[in-house]
Amino acid sequence: MRHDGRRPLLVGNWKMHLTERWSLALLDDLLPRLADLTGALDVAVAPSLPCLRAVADRLRGAAIRLAAQNLHWEDKGPFTGEVSARMLAEIGVELVIVGHSERRNLFGETDERVGKKVVAARRHGIVPILCVGEQESERDEGRTLEVVERQLRLGLSGIAATDGSDLAIAYEPVWAIGTGRFASVAQIQEVHRMIREQLASLYGTRSAASVRILYGGSATPESAPDIVALEDVDGALVGQASLEPARFEAICRLGT
Ligand code: PEP
Repeated sequence: MRHDGRRPLLVGNWKMHLTERWSLALLDDLLPRLADLTGALDVAVAPSLPCLRAVADRLRGAAIRLAAQNLHWEDKGPFTGEVSARMLAEIGVELVIVGHSERRNLFGETDERVGKKVVAARRHGIVPILCVGEQESERDEGRTLEVVERQLRLGLSGIAATDGSDLAIAYEPVWAIGTGRFASVAQIQEVHRMIREQLASLYGTRSAASVRILYGGSATPESAPDIVALEDVDGALVGQASLEPARFEAICRLGT
């Protein structure tokens, strides 16, 4: 799946599933499994906030990268319960998931806020993984491309340029997340191509060709082979299957 020289990126989103103890136990199982792989692709895990420091310590010397699941757009201030990119960077976080549909749908995250978070992450050298994706009703109404185009345009409104190393996009059809349903390869490639074209119109063809566009939504070792082989799919954002080391390893191996 190495398309146009883009290095595949596989990200496990552990959501709010694991305590620190279980995060470290999962990692101890995962690290040896992935040891021979990381020359060929980038792998990251996104634990819960309170586990970041312990996971960062355990990852020291390993090739797996540390990701966070969310951030606030300000560097500091009276924002009870929030965490800034500056704090994440200090822990060693290299990537951050921004605008996940669970944040958008359950916590009222707007496109405007998502855009500010993308800017904040980059300000501190953290690669934002900007999540976009349509609801089932929007797909049924034939509005998928329009919805994704808007999320992308607003999410990237504060970004003037990219060389592809400082930005990733994840296309996650909301109806496919955690449901066991997944989009057809034709549906996925159509959206990924549109995203790449939109990136080209914003940042030029060359930069757009370098940005990694991940697929997310019930990715499994069974569903992922056809998906990651697609021209404009450069990896996956994996939820449920990332909690099972053997299954996450199998998905990662598809990227080699
Ligand atoms: C996700 O939450 O980003 C995700 C893709 O979850 P799942 O793989 O469980 O659908």
